[in-house]
Amino acid sequence: MGPSIEQKRRILVAYDVDVLSELISTLLSNDGFATEIANDGEEALEKVESFGPDLVILDLMMPKMHGLDILKKIKSDPATRDIGVIICSTKTFKTEIDQAYEYGAHEFLAKPFQEEELLSAVHRFFASVASSNSREGARQIQAAIEGDVYRPKIEPPNGSMRLWGTRGSIPISGPKCVRHGGNTACLEMQHNGERIIIDAGSGIRDLGQALLSEGPQTLHIFITHTHWDHIQGFPFFVPAFIKGYNINLYASPNLDKDLESIFKGQLDRAYFPVQMEDMQADLNFIHFGEDPIQIGDMEVSWEYTVHPSATVGYKIKMPGRTVAFVPDNEFAKGYLGRPHDITMDHELAVINLKLINFLQDVDVLIHEAQYPNEEYINKIGWGHSSLSNACALVNLVQPKRWIITHHDPMHDDDFLRDKLNITRQMLRELDITVPVEHAFDGMIEYL
Ligand SMILES: [Zn+2]
Ligand SMILES: [Zn+2]
Repeated sequence: MGPSIEQKRRILVAYDVDVLSELISTLLSNDGFATEIANDGEEALEKVESFGPDLVILDLMMPKMHGLDILKKIKSDPATRDIGVIICSTKTFKTEIDQAYEYGAHEFLAKPFQEEELLSAVHRFFASVASSNSREGARQIQAAIEGDVYRPKIEPPNGSMRLWGTRGSIPISGPKCVRHGGNTACLEMQHNGERIIIDAGSGIRDLGQALLSEGPQTLHIFITHTHWDHIQGFPFFVPAFIKGYNINLYASPNLDKDLESIFKGQLDRAYFPVQMEDMQADLNFIHFGEDPIQIGDMEVSWEYTVHPSATVGYKIKMPGRTVAFVPDNEFAKGYLGRPHDITMDHELAVINLKLINFLQDVDVLIHEAQYPNEEYINKIGWGHSSLSNACALVNLVQPKRWIITHHDPMHDDDFLRDKLNITRQMLRELDITVPVEHAFDGMIEYL
């Protein structure tokens, strides 16, 4: 079955001579077009309206109205100006031809013409319509791109949160960790012109490079604890070597040694070619007390976590958002059961109540979940949570989001992908809807 009348292209044959118009009409309908005939100028205009042709084959010498006037009318009315017009005429003076084209005719055929000439003119017209339709489509898209398109841009942010290192234990590199990265712990928070840095793992080296363009300033570096993966980047933190930088380093009051000795120790000649005396920045080592520390409009408070040495987690409260950074915490130490069973009155929750309360009002919890349960069995007491125990803590504190950091150096990208999916499954089983994702080196969010 061929196309229906509605689907066929319509051609009006406006021709002075009956016989010829019948011939042309038959020719065109045999070629698959729907046709009608008009034998004078007025009828032609009526049928342009009633028939709604795509194309008019127009004889110039028509009774009642000259073909050029019909052409002019068709082309000057917005409702009909897209209709194609092929002029047929015995009068082939240049002026007439020029005029026909000027008024918008698509072709000018000199009579008498061969059937093939007419048919190819008709096909040329419809081919040009198809291509100009696609040109028109492209033009409209281009106009839309240039014009009224919703294109949101990052507005000057109030601040940002950037994870420069998300690995635990030791930096790694290579093709198996390209998605997550291999630098050890470092978080940068900026808000309203102030900046705090938490931990000085190898990620702080890149941060130091990035800071150079801003020139000397006061920097606040909070250390969760002084295991290697949280301080090993400091000897490579370039601002520490530049006069004019004022660097405050903060840590828990209950470290095994004072913070300055630990940092000096890391730069002992036995370990490193450059010593702390070579650092030109003004370094201040501060053991904080119980009270929160205010840096601009960021309030930094801390709480002990379950981890060897006096390890803390930090909470940064700023207008509109509270972020907690707890990279090392063996929550529910030794527990191998289901996370569902650790409710607020469970003994493992009770002994961690201070930390649980500390994390109650957090929007974004950046917390480890280092070991899948089957690995944790052999790593109890190493200071890191099993996956399900971390889920249990998340269930108790219900942050708005959970970002998992401190990835194990043994866990490559594919392993972490599977681990994240297991984490999501556990949260579903716990019937909580906290979105969870993995941190990666360079992860940045504007606040
Ligand atoms: Zn660590
Ligand atoms: Zn540690």
